[in-house]
Amino acid sequence: MGGQAAGRNRSGGLIDMRHTLIKSATVISMDAGIGDLSTGDVLVENGRIAEVGPGIDLGSGATETEIVDGQGRIVIPGLINAHMHTWQTALRGYAANWTLLEYFRRMHAGLATVFRPEDIYIATLVGALNQINCGATTLVDWCHNNPTPDHTDAAVRGLIESGIRAAFFHGSPKPEPKPGEPHFSEIPHPRHEVERLLAGPLADRNGLVALGLAILGPHYSTLDVAMHDFRLAREFNLIASMHQGGGPPKTPGGWEKLIEAGLVGPGVNIVHGNDLPDDLLQRGGCWSGASVPRSGSISNPCWPAASSPPRASRCRCSARSTMRRRARPAAPFRPRPRYLCARRCAG
Ligand SMILES: [Zn+2]
Repeated sequence: MGGQAAGRNRSGGLIDMRHTLIKSATVISMDAGIGDLSTGDVLVENGRIAEVGPGIDLGSGATETEIVDGQGRIVIPGLINAHMHTWQTALRGYAANWTLLEYFRRMHAGLATVFRPEDIYIATLVGALNQINCGATTLVDWCHNNPTPDHTDAAVRGLIESGIRAAFFHGSPKPEPKPGEPHFSEIPHPRHEVERLLAGPLADRNGLVALGLAILGPHYSTLDVAMHDFRLAREFNLIASMHQGGGPPKTPGGWEKLIEAGLVGPGVNIVHGNDLPDDLLQRGGCWSGASVPRSGSISNPCWPAASSPPRASRCRCSARSTMRRRARPAAPFRPRPRYLCARRCAG
């Protein structure tokens, strides 16, 4: 071990300030200018990749750098997990045979309602660390259990403290309405929470953790709410992400109406949009997230996955062959590539 100790990035997450040289590994750079190296080195300085190439010469800095023997190992850019409900980390294994309706009733109207902010925090922290451990250095956290600002801030804190690069998609809870209360599909995304987050914990648009909106969209909300939420995301220049599919839509023809209103474009990310017609997606110019179609039995399509590296970028689902066949390219977030061996991510 040489060099300096850990530091903190602008968002408060940990940065490995040491210099590390991974030597003599097979390097898959995914960079046309570098190519793939059957034997190559990767130099990491202060949490950033400083150089990739064959036989990097450290010169006088050699004594300050940790050397990692990469022989027999493959170095690849960090994987991007484009969709996970990280607050559900402690619930892995539940609901594999639930229908979607059971999931809504037992999860969103049941288990989700007893989560305290500290439960959200530890689940998000552990879930994000597990992602790093499995090779995913960037995570889209589709957080939809935010009944109070304290719950939201707890999730953001868990992400920041993990050190992972993340898009925090702020969502809304889905409890059973009490008498006199509106159904969740009739509740617009809270503007005051967006303003609060952008003025406080997620004010740094270039920080390791950035804000997006996990909205209901036309499949799960009224047209008025969908229009409001799309406009809200556009006003603040935020990605609007929403689930699609699973039973009949709340707003039939909603996508056509949103497209006619000029509200659909590159900042729109659709989850489970596999069954939307190609021409609609092309007209909208939006993204359909790489995911699986929702079916009668949900088999945890959006739940925390990845207990080992080969699973890191997959949804856990009983329809993997279907996923491979039908998945579409996705993820509007395209951060800089990071390397598996650089476990701590820096800004
Ligand atoms: Zn999901």
